Amino acid sequence: MGFFDLKAICGVCDRETGLNRFKVKKPNAWICPECLKKAGGITSVDFSKVTIEDIKQMIEEKEWKQEKRSNAFINEPLSTAEGMYRYCIENNLGSGWNEKWGGKHFKIIENNLLDGEKVHLTFIGLHNYISATKHGNNFAYAITNKRIMMAQKNTIAGEKFQSVSLDNINDITFKSGVALGTVTVDTIKETFNIGLSKVSAKLINSKIHEVINDIKNNKGNGKLESNDAASTADELKKFKELLDMGALTQEEFDIKKKQLLNL
Ligand SMILES: [Zn+2]
Repeated sequence: MGFFDLKAICGVCDRETGLNRFKVKKPNAWICPECLKKAGGITSVDFSKVTIEDIKQMIEEKEWKQEKRSNAFINEPLSTAEGMYRYCIENNLGSGWNEKWGGKHFKIIENNLLDGEKVHLTFIGLHNYISATKHGNNFAYAITNKRIMMAQKNTIAGEKFQSVSLDNINDITFKSGVALGTVTVDTIKETFNIGLSKVSAKLINSKIHEVINDIKNNKGNGKLESNDAASTADELKKFKELLDMGALTQEEFDIKKKQLLNL
């Protein structure tokens, strides 16, 4: 087979590769651009080392991870950055931020979640708020069964992350100012003033108290309802929504759809 043979078969998916194919040395084989993309793209695949079998395994692992992530998103929405961000929007908890940055701040929170740590409430506000012009910009906040987490992704300073155990919180109070409202978290070590719109400040303050009381009374540890009873149609609808909001790619949606319909 010469290099310019028009027809070549992908060693991974057994379909025709088209001309945008890539050569895999061990064994002497081709891979199509779709399969390369599934394996993580040109930067993840070292063509001088990997075999077709390695690539197949890479794709399987990636799909497995993606499936785990989308299942986590469905079963426990607040365990992922997307879910935490969406929760803020749907409950009007915070203002003055966009999806790109909101997602980045919450990604830090997602990455710092411990085993068994469960997020109960999330919001975005202006960290270390002094006045409308003096503050530390937007932070993402999460109240979990263990602590308050605060995170900011910043192009200059990188990542900022801090957390305070719920046991170390003295009090949480709310104040309505001229321009914005403030939620103040008073901890054993320091005090955090969080700037929010007046409406969200009031709402967040009462929600925080509700959530923390629930956690302290152990009501917050209730088991998640089983999804087993949910009909296939409901499940499909949820995945369609995820697709529409961009949390799943078309490819991922198709995989889930196939699984649900046993195709
Ligand atoms: Zn292929």
